[in-house]
Amino acid sequence: MNNNFHFQQNVSLAPFSTFHIGGTARQFISVQNPDELLEIIQWANENKIEYKVFAGGSNVVFPDKGLDCLVIQILGGYIKRQENKFIVDAGMLLMDVVSESIDYGLAGLENLSGIPGTIGGAVVGNAGAYGHSISEVVEKVEIWDGKEKRLLTNSECNFSYRESIFKEKPFLVLKVTCKLEKVDSNRLKTISADIIRMREKKYRPGIKCPGSFFKNILTSEIDKDALGRIDTNKIVFGKMPAGFLLEEVGAKGMQVGGIKIADFHGNLFINTGGGTAADVKKLAGILKQKVKEKFGIVLEEEIRYF
Ligand SMILES: Cc1cc2nc3c(=O)[nH]c(=O)nc-3n(C[C@H](O)[C@H](O)[C@H](O)COP(=O)(O)OP(=O)(O)OC[C@H]3O[C@@H](n4cnc5c(N)ncnc54)[C@H](O)[C@@H]3O)c2cc1C
Repeated sequence: MNNNFHFQQNVSLAPFSTFHIGGTARQFISVQNPDELLEIIQWANENKIEYKVFAGGSNVVFPDKGLDCLVIQILGGYIKRQENKFIVDAGMLLMDVVSESIDYGLAGLENLSGIPGTIGGAVVGNAGAYGHSISEVVEKVEIWDGKEKRLLTNSECNFSYRESIFKEKPFLVLKVTCKLEKVDSNRLKTISADIIRMREKKYRPGIKCPGSFFKNILTSEIDKDALGRIDTNKIVFGKMPAGFLLEEVGAKGMQVGGIKIADFHGNLFINTGGGTAADVKKLAGILKQKVKEKFGIVLEEEIRYF
């Protein structure tokens, strides 16, 4: 194995997550590209070492008791451009990919401006905003399926709202091919700047959070009885925002331990300092129960308990 790999022991995971929660990893390594990731994984498999992979840490809640295994972070890589296509290493920050697409006047990613984390993480959770999601531009994904490298077409990724095959199967995303459309770069710059301005109102600088905590609810999945109990004027892009339901049950400002729901948004869990995964789970449980009792709707976490 590459001698330049630098394993660390007993590494605190909290600083690697935007929520700043988590105990220590028994062993930790950060890799910068898909080849390094595969090398480490093959070595771990040969040596029967258990491992878990994360990337930007912007959608995970690490456990308070830490992880008694090797934790691998994939962060970094390159974009290869082929006319209107980008072939991107999974560890590249989505924001860098979005900026580069805008600079080249390639449309399709601009609505994802400001979403933290990597393009690999975005594909896993089919990240999106303002009625668009990354699945709209993904042409294919190179994966490691546990035995070999394979290419999955968009339809083989089973994308749906914040879902993909990568949440069902232990595949690793190695590279993502995005198919974009040539347009005027200035138009994309304006859209992106407007989106970033709107996002900064919700996600203030320095906020310790994992983005939206619960998924919005697809109206197609709400039964008639529950539809009668909600204010359907609040439905946007075919979804009932979880934030509205949470606000109706008094979520804003609620607090358990160090975790508080924002005073200005019902679906925003903030670590005010010293918050734990146990606090998060307790608060999430209380809120799920309240929403179920009032509306008959079962909220589902968008974040991943790691
Ligand atoms: C302030 C803020 C705002 C946000 N706004 C949005 C938003 O508008 N829309 C939205 O959709 N999300 C949003 N999020 C959530 C988050 O940014 C996205 O889910 C992001 O795509 C996660 O990427 P990541 O690299 O951080 O993944 P991580 O959090 O590191 O990992 C998430 C999951 O993906 C898996 N994973 C990561 N990389 C790989 C890989 N290469 N192969 C296989 N599995 C992998 C991990 O194991 C984990 O299960 C926000 C988060 C924050 C903190």
